[in-house]
Amino acid sequence: MLVTAERKFSINKKQWLLMGGLALFNLFYAILLFWLLGDDSPMLGLVQIAMIALISALSFSIFYRFNKREIEMRKAFEELSTNDKLTGLSTRTKFAQTIGKYLENSRKTQPFALILLDIDRFKEVNTSLGYAAADDLLKAFSKRLVHFADHRSDCARLSSNEFALLIRYDGSGETLQARMQALLTDLYHPFSSEGRSIELSLSGGVSLYPDDSQSAPCLMQYAHFALQRAKQQGHNRIFCYEEGADEKLHDLQLLSQDMDRALKNDEFKLFFQPQFSFSTGEQVGFEALIRWDHPERGLISPADFIPIAEQNGFIIPLSEFALMEACKAATSWVNPLRVAVNLSPIQMQHVDVADLAERALQETGLEPSRLELEVTESLFIDMSDQAASTLKRLQDIGVTIALDDFGTGYSGLNYLSNFPFDKLKIDRSFVKDLSHDKGAMAIISAVIGMAQSLDMRITAEGIDNKEVLEILKLAGCHEAQGFLLGKPRDIALLPGVEMGLPAQKEAA
Ligand code: C2E
Ligand code: MG
Ligand code: MG
Repeated sequence: MLVTAERKFSINKKQWLLMGGLALFNLFYAILLFWLLGDDSPMLGLVQIAMIALISALSFSIFYRFNKREIEMRKAFEELSTNDKLTGLSTRTKFAQTIGKYLENSRKTQPFALILLDIDRFKEVNTSLGYAAADDLLKAFSKRLVHFADHRSDCARLSSNEFALLIRYDGSGETLQARMQALLTDLYHPFSSEGRSIELSLSGGVSLYPDDSQSAPCLMQYAHFALQRAKQQGHNRIFCYEEGADEKLHDLQLLSQDMDRALKNDEFKLFFQPQFSFSTGEQVGFEALIRWDHPERGLISPADFIPIAEQNGFIIPLSEFALMEACKAATSWVNPLRVAVNLSPIQMQHVDVADLAERALQETGLEPSRLELEVTESLFIDMSDQAASTLKRLQDIGVTIALDDFGTGYSGLNYLSNFPFDKLKIDRSFVKDLSHDKGAMAIISAVIGMAQSLDMRITAEGIDNKEVLEILKLAGCHEAQGFLLGKPRDIALLPGVEMGLPAQKEAA
């Protein structure tokens, strides 16, 4: 609800009480004078009137000052709650009111689109430009948005890097597409900051009135679903709300409320996928991969629930569970194989993972050298120094650190020379195209050369055919993981541990 300031002079409850108190005091004072001086004093009437007038003037000036201060405070509060201080755009509160007005008018007039836009990797922009220049960039971005809106109040800054815009159109898909195209062309046009040219990456979600919904909260939620889908599919894209696709996302959001219960009910399970050495052909370890065995939905993939757990904070107890269970399982294996556990960047922001791992090792009795922790590149965008020191402490106690999904992150490569990873895991997206894509081969050769020069080992993940397995072996990869060699499985179903590189032997 929008707070509106009462600009005229007004008296509130507290002030009425104060004023009543002062009036009582005046009365009491008059009675006191009357009692002290008696009614025969000639001065009594005058003195009484003068004193009462003085006290009344004093009271009025107190009320006035109180009231003035309150009006000023309310004005400032209104300013803050309706307009973003940095960009001057509407805040979330005012924007909600604007949508409401649009809906009232649109019943009689025309359709409109609600567009949510996120500047991707804004933390990275902040870090590389510095806060002052990043602020200027946000102001310039806002100006371009306003240029496309009918009114300034149709544009909002919803959070640090999240913006919203309402665009009226005539209901035809072509018109909307043309307007969106013009908007995006303008927003993608490089910004200049201190002599540098900055190109922004944007993710967006769009919902339409009246096609998608006629209610403001629904339109907002649908645009948000579409935005989430754009982010999940790799950022830097704008999606319109699609009932089927976004309902799935919505459905997954429902899981969010169910996670605590599921952990208590032992519904989370670790599956283990084998990893093999190229040189010996023998199994060297397992990667622990979590699953949710939901009573109604069956097995849910971590790709579906980990992003939700990262949003709602559940990733912290979940990761602790995964680490403890993985270490415990590894101690029960016949062969002293290594166990690799995935860490989430969100978990690392909130928990001292080095302490957690030490505790897991102590409680389970697993040798530190048998534990490998997998982190992703995104960790180094948000918290490079802190992450690096935590990971270094882990290496000091003998735990190895692998960089997972290498090649899919956003960062430059400079963090590779700043942190001595023990291993790089080349992402499946490069591996799967290897047999027919020369570009993928060139990337893999370059990565292998670079890792060798930095003294890092290399695992190729996602190997699902023999041809690719052979290519990677010849290219000099150290370890292999993929469906061809073994799918992730419930360890309880494994009689012992697998040994040997079966598919490679078969292929030979
Ligand atoms: P990841 O760590 O990169 O794990 C490898 C993923 O690739 C696994 O998917 C695995 O089943 C899949 N994979 C392996 N070989 C092949 C192949 O040959 N073909 C295909 N198509 N897929 C293959 P999964 O188990 O669905 O896990 C997805 C992601 O979820 C993991 O990617 C990891 O980022 C995350 N994850 C899984 N368990 C945990 C966990 O305990 N904690 C955290 N923070 N993340 C986890
Ligand atoms: Mg992994
Ligand atoms: Mg991976």
